[in-house]
Amino acid sequence: MNRLIDVGVNLTNKSLRGDLDGVMQRALIAGVDQMVVTGTSIADSLKAIELCRLYPERLIATCGIHPHHASDYTKTSYGELETLAQNDCVRAIGETGLDFNRNYSPVEAQEFAFRQQMELAASLAKPLFCHQRDAHRRFVEMLREYRDRISRLVVHCFTDSREALVDYLDLDCYIGITGWICDERRGLELQQLVKLIPDDRLLLETDAPYLLPRNLKPKPSSRINEPAYLPQVLDMVAFHQGKAVELLANQSLQNSRRFFDL
Ligand SMILES: [Zn+2]
Repeated sequence: MNRLIDVGVNLTNKSLRGDLDGVMQRALIAGVDQMVVTGTSIADSLKAIELCRLYPERLIATCGIHPHHASDYTKTSYGELETLAQNDCVRAIGETGLDFNRNYSPVEAQEFAFRQQMELAASLAKPLFCHQRDAHRRFVEMLREYRDRISRLVVHCFTDSREALVDYLDLDCYIGITGWICDERRGLELQQLVKLIPDDRLLLETDAPYLLPRNLKPKPSSRINEPAYLPQVLDMVAFHQGKAVELLANQSLQNSRRFFDL
């Protein structure tokens, strides 16, 4: 069986947290040994760290403030994140970035929180876990200012255009691919674009409980995505890259280990 690391799981979300042991067990059976728990606010990052303590061999975390929550970024946030990041299980800063799709937080607040978290990642020499939606131009502009000071960064759940992908690869970013690629309507462009991602820059993630792969058979009645479905993403990427599944599994595993220093 292919061993995999799911680099983006919202495991603190009620729908997964409520059946933690089941989620962990099913992931293991599917070959998903390890996963990265995404931190999206101060409180959520703390919860992510607590989950890592329950499964120290299998879970690591990011800590950060998601662009949706950027309005909550205050004067004390930098110091709080810095303290949280001292935990050994915290292997990246984020998720952070820009999301102009719904602007749950004002643009200025998003930019401020993003800038601060890039500073933090640079000063702690930790990788950066990024989210970008409908904000590519501004996002890449800000990223360029900091790129030289940040060791590694991933644009997670990449669903954008060819132009955006080329910009991220020029900046030597890792690219996170989710079950979006399994969507027979919205995923068509992504299916073409994954061929452009170099072997050593691809990371696989479910973004569970969101983005249930649409081609899962049978479809779980709960409609909740979970790390156990990561092989579905692996298969689709391998298919569209014209690559053997085992080869891609191994490459993405090595990439995840290198990125998160595992
Ligand atoms: Zn995200």
